[in-house]
Amino acid sequence: MTTILSKRLGGVKPSPSMAAKQRVDALRAAGRRVIDFTIGEPDFPTPAHIVKAGIDALAAGQTRYTASAGTLPLRQAIAAKLGRENGLAYAPDEIVVGCGAKHIIYDALAATLNEGDEVIVPAPYWVSYPDMVALHGGRPVIVPCGADNGFKLTPAGLESAVTRRTRWLILNSPNNPTGAVYSASELKALSEVLLRHPHVWLLTDEIYEHFVYGQAAHVSPVKLAPELQLRALVVNGLSKAYAMTGWRIGYGAGPLPLIKAITLLLTQSTTCAAGVSQAAAVTALEGPQQCVTDAARLFLARRDSIVEHLNRIPGIRCLPPDGAFYTFPSVAGLIGATTPAGKSLASDADVVMYFLDEAGVAAIDGSSYGMPGHLRMSFATSAEQIEAGCAALAQAVAALRLPVPSLRKENSHA
Ligand code: PLP
Repeated sequence: MTTILSKRLGGVKPSPSMAAKQRVDALRAAGRRVIDFTIGEPDFPTPAHIVKAGIDALAAGQTRYTASAGTLPLRQAIAAKLGRENGLAYAPDEIVVGCGAKHIIYDALAATLNEGDEVIVPAPYWVSYPDMVALHGGRPVIVPCGADNGFKLTPAGLESAVTRRTRWLILNSPNNPTGAVYSASELKALSEVLLRHPHVWLLTDEIYEHFVYGQAAHVSPVKLAPELQLRALVVNGLSKAYAMTGWRIGYGAGPLPLIKAITLLLTQSTTCAAGVSQAAAVTALEGPQQCVTDAARLFLARRDSIVEHLNRIPGIRCLPPDGAFYTFPSVAGLIGATTPAGKSLASDADVVMYFLDEAGVAAIDGSSYGMPGHLRMSFATSAEQIEAGCAALAQAVAALRLPVPSLRKENSHA
């Protein structure tokens, strides 16, 4: 029988974080205790004043379609936020609201890519970028960015990836999965390369902007190189900062023709983001911001704890992330180890399965994010779970026969 499915769909992989979540749910349903480090969202509820705004909006009858680009009050609130927090000047009609930042990125690529167009994606990357590019006929050009440069793209790496077919560079800072945060000078250097290639647009995904730690600070590359505003799409959303993942509100700010094109796609797909969620989003952006500061403080304490615990485990090495709520430890020191059952751990995916089976700890393999030899472990979970999970990992590692002699070298990282 011929297939109903499109050729383009053939290359698209399911999101590994969603797949990991399903695996955890299935194990829990079967009665197993699992400590989950795969979580990609804050583990606390939406602040009460934002929930109340949603309830009030429903009670007031805000139950209908809204303008496809988003309500004017929300686009005004976003324009004000971009000015206040990011030093960026956008008019409300240069802003479009979608069902999450993911939706906006998807439609931006749909609106701009022709068959064979290239999109530069630094690796490790958020898993959706390459698949979304491929889904729209584009070719993701993956540029590996190793731990030696803090998992960040260098100007030379960018320069060497640009061709005549390049349409976009996708930058994500603070980064999922590494937590890397680009400094102002690093962004400036990258924007100088972009300024030399006027046909390349910048998609800057700033969804984790509020979660930065220590000396790190978030700055939008568009603020640093205002010339780029004419060919940049600033993407952000409410999911992470306000613990609103399920409300599905994200937005893009960019030049009018691009915003109109994305809006056109919205009119023919979702029509608009949910009106009730848009009303709550106005309150989130205009209301008290203490909830965001509190969340960032909580994540900082958890970051310090998980990094310390992971670095005590032989064979695991973890750089402290500067932002977001993910660690990206190397497990290179465990590859080649033998399990008590006599199986050799040949890859990070094997390490993930061993940890799940032996320790009841769920993580995601770095290969899924374009960087083998690592795990993504989220710290959007409680201090108790971090402690218990790392203790279980330490026990599982102690049960391994580790490869020699690299073992001693890998372990001497204290
Ligand atoms: N961008 C990055 C880097 C993410 O990690 C996520 C979610 O995990 C998103 C965008 C999408 O967020 P949302 O669609 O919930 O706004």
